[in-house]
Amino acid sequence: MKKKKGPVKVSDLAKQLKLSSKELIGRISELGIGVNSDRSTLAEATVKKVKKAFSKKGPRAKVKPQKKVAKVKPKRKKPAKLIEPTVEENEIALTKAAPPKEEVIPKEKPPQKIVKVKFPITVKDLASRMSIGPSLLIKNLMDLRVFATINQLIDEGIAKQAGEKFGYRIESLPTIEQETMAVYEKQDLSKLKPRAPVITLMGHVDHGKTSLLDYIRKSKIIDFEKGGITQHIGAYRVCLDKGEITFLDTPGHEAFTAMRARGATATDIVILVVAADDGVKPQTIEAIDHARAAKVPIVVAVNKIDKPNIDIDKVKKQLSEIGLTAEDWGGKTITVNVSAKMGEGVEKLLEMILLEAEMLELKADPTKPAGGVVIEGKLSKGGGPVATVLVKNGSLHPGDVVICGKYYGKIRALIDDRIHKVKEAPPSMPVEILGLNGVPDAGDPFIVVDNERKAKEITELRLQKIKEEKLAPVARKISLEDFYAEVQKGKIKELKVILKTDVQGSLEALRDSLMKIDTKELKLNIIHTAVGDVNESDVLLAAASNAVIIGLHAGKTAEAEKAIKREGVDVKLYAIIYEAISDVKAALEGMLEPKLKDVFLGRAVVRQVFKISKAGTVAGCYVQKGTIRRTNDCRMIRNGKEVYKGKLSSLKRFKDDIKEAAEGYECGIGLDGFEDIQRGDIIEAFEVQKIARKL
Ligand code: GDP
Repeated sequence: MKKKKGPVKVSDLAKQLKLSSKELIGRISELGIGVNSDRSTLAEATVKKVKKAFSKKGPRAKVKPQKKVAKVKPKRKKPAKLIEPTVEENEIALTKAAPPKEEVIPKEKPPQKIVKVKFPITVKDLASRMSIGPSLLIKNLMDLRVFATINQLIDEGIAKQAGEKFGYRIESLPTIEQETMAVYEKQDLSKLKPRAPVITLMGHVDHGKTSLLDYIRKSKIIDFEKGGITQHIGAYRVCLDKGEITFLDTPGHEAFTAMRARGATATDIVILVVAADDGVKPQTIEAIDHARAAKVPIVVAVNKIDKPNIDIDKVKKQLSEIGLTAEDWGGKTITVNVSAKMGEGVEKLLEMILLEAEMLELKADPTKPAGGVVIEGKLSKGGGPVATVLVKNGSLHPGDVVICGKYYGKIRALIDDRIHKVKEAPPSMPVEILGLNGVPDAGDPFIVVDNERKAKEITELRLQKIKEEKLAPVARKISLEDFYAEVQKGKIKELKVILKTDVQGSLEALRDSLMKIDTKELKLNIIHTAVGDVNESDVLLAAASNAVIIGLHAGKTAEAEKAIKREGVDVKLYAIIYEAISDVKAALEGMLEPKLKDVFLGRAVVRQVFKISKAGTVAGCYVQKGTIRRTNDCRMIRNGKEVYKGKLSSLKRFKDDIKEAAEGYECGIGLDGFEDIQRGDIIEAFEVQKIARKL
């Protein structure tokens, strides 16, 4: 009778094949089968497959480690062909942990194996690509002071260091998103055609931005299309004899910079509206600074010229004082006098916009798949997500699959600003799109991709990244402390600052003193100054421009506080002008690099250890000193030595999850990815603080 075969342990099969377990695991993974350790079991079919592979070429030739091959055949100089995994293979490796084919280059000295992977990669997948057990990799990562769990994603730097220890050179393959973007960004210059300019109106409140937008919309669109009704989709187009213009419907620099903070500059030209009866005001200057920081050209509309007792020359003089000298004053700024109420000068303004656009040589390729930016997103009355997008390049069609920020979908319909279903949206055309699986944010980029599978995969990776960023401490933007390090990395060459003070006098004093700082190569660029507290618009400008905000006798508005947290912008408030100047000077000289300090928060001693089937090992602790919080970093100390550093995975009192355990209380603590807890171990909670260097 035939004996029924069951699963076979890797170590047993290795013995049968007269190999070490490690060698066998290496070979098995080459067959595309994932194995964690020599204790793993293989199904009967897999065993057959492995044995068959060995019988084909013979175990010796197949299993000999590369090292030995190189030694036995020293003359073989030509490296074995590097088999690059296909995109498909790498995708599988990322999602299913199935190890694709190994790529091995035997080099003479020392033999080094190259593994190409897509980042980020989980510990499990990386281990499998290196044909080692994940626990071995986790241990190795601990040596590098990285405490990762098996399913945790690790970044390129860490993976490379870990790989080196096992004789692997880890190389990064472009992510699927990078590959997609590279395809999209390819430009065939011969196919470029002129496209319509995209305009945003900016200026001080009540100077007539909305009135001007409305006048243009009503007069031009009804002119163009008898009885034509428009709907507010966030943008509209007007057609003139000499060309088209697209207007973004949300005036003001806040919307403009909020989009820019998300990485999108949809606007080609800013129309700065200045009321003839009011002249240049603080928000006029703010708008100019925002437009300049974005390097977008400005056309000035001096509005309300129908009003009595106005002095247009006075306004032009004020404008020339802030660097916007009108052409008839010998400057370069196109300036048109208009009345949004009466319509006077509006035609000329539109002509001038087209003239400015011509000089900018705005072009795009209407034949390629579309890409652009979201202008606004909302839920329709029926509950489905609707987004208005502005096509920046290519042409959009119903049926196209788009990725919009973290959402995607197949476009069911394209609806233009005149409530028509359209079959195509060429460059610079705003359209509403239906068919997304969520509501994207204004400023999110969109692109068309080949198929829904790819769109799903890219958006899933984006969502994962967003989740990680949320967990990570904010501080994503530049700070005075980080400035020099960023310079040394070659990332930036100038320190951009925004200055806010309580009164005009201190603003001038601060600006003048900062301008006098003598820094040989590094430049200080003051991108915006104003009197008043730091507001949301300052924070958005700083976020969009990678600038630091410096306040002197200035506070922060509540809105600004929220935006600072959200955007991770560095805001430094000073009471003494000398301190502000000396900090900026120090930052420029690289004297302000931060020190990191662990601040002790609490200590607990392990009195009992519980093994719980679902939760793993839990330490029954008594808090001796301070407080232990669920979100704290912690380290575990055994016999005076640190044996773990990482995060708490749970904090409980009896069966309840708690946020913190105070001194004198008992609690249950689980450690993230660490099971080896013993009675008598000490768990210390701490917080890493960035400490600016004192000068
Ligand atoms: P916004 O805050 O810049 O959008 O300004 P609005 O468009 O809301 O205009 C503010 C006020 O100025 C409204 O009462 C308008 O009717 C008025 N206004 C705007 N443009 C003109 C104009 O050209 N002439 C006159 N006389 N009033 C205007």
